[in-house]
Amino acid sequence: MTDRYAVFGHPIAHSKSPQIHAAFARQTVQDMTYEAILAPKDGFADSVAAFITAGGRGANVTVPFKEEAFRLAGRLSSRAERAGAVNTLRFDADGIFGDNTDGAGLVADLTRNLGCVLAGKRVLLVGAGGAARGVIEPLLAQQPAEVVIANRTVSRAQDLAALFGRGVRACSFDAADAPFDIVINATAASLAGELPPLSPRVFTADTLAYDMMYGRDTPFLDFARSHGAATADGLGMLVEQAAEAFTLWRGVRPDTAPVIAALRT
Ligand code: NDP
Repeated sequence: MTDRYAVFGHPIAHSKSPQIHAAFARQTVQDMTYEAILAPKDGFADSVAAFITAGGRGANVTVPFKEEAFRLAGRLSSRAERAGAVNTLRFDADGIFGDNTDGAGLVADLTRNLGCVLAGKRVLLVGAGGAARGVIEPLLAQQPAEVVIANRTVSRAQDLAALFGRGVRACSFDAADAPFDIVINATAASLAGELPPLSPRVFTADTLAYDMMYGRDTPFLDFARSHGAATADGLGMLVEQAAEAFTLWRGVRPDTAPVIAALRT
């Protein structure tokens, strides 16, 4: 029987995950389907249960269900535990296993696709929501000199920094005014076409400015570019986090480069 996978979200029609996983399945010759499921905002757990009963083997989880997926999973990877959120579920005889592949996806995109070395570098992480929290542990594993979290609500950045301890500190947007090697926009500002009020002094000609948002140019990337930085959007992260989930489910790692290239065109 063909194995079934899905992505759950609300909304979900915009999701590129079905296209990405279909490409991975073709490339690695896996007998599987992958669909997008619109779960009611108050019906995520029921939707997942129905999918498992219908033969579902695994799922991705997107906004607004990542924290609920964290609570639903009977077992968690350590990175999901630290992230406090789950974007990948695997269903097997032992129950529901939860993982978080967002951070691994970001690090793979930065290091493998963009040729960026993180060791010894100063990283400014802008934002302190779910996406920011999910990427801190995998970033720290690359041994940067430090990770500074700047957030509109400074107390949220402070709470996050306290959770991770050494090598991570929090500050306000105003206080982030020295150059960084890598500046990652993990806020939802780009979704609203807005620019986080960053100092231009965080950018130099040697800075890589990375926006987790993908699919269109953003005020953040424009601003960074106009102050000399190199820029990248989050499409590579999206495909890499999907590849990490696919590997967990199928035990085979797909080649992401042709899939990223196809999505860009
Ligand atoms: P959350 O809602 O959890 O967090 C939102 C964050 O953005 C908070 O830090 C919030 O600050 C900040 N923020 C919102 N609006 C503004 C603004 N106008 N100016 C400054 N800061 C603002 O969202 P997520 O963390 O889940 O997602 C963040 C982004 O990451 C989204 O664009 C999402 O699409 C993207 N993403 C991309 C992925 C990929 O694979 N490429 C994977 C996951 C996420 P405050 O605390 O003050 O409210």
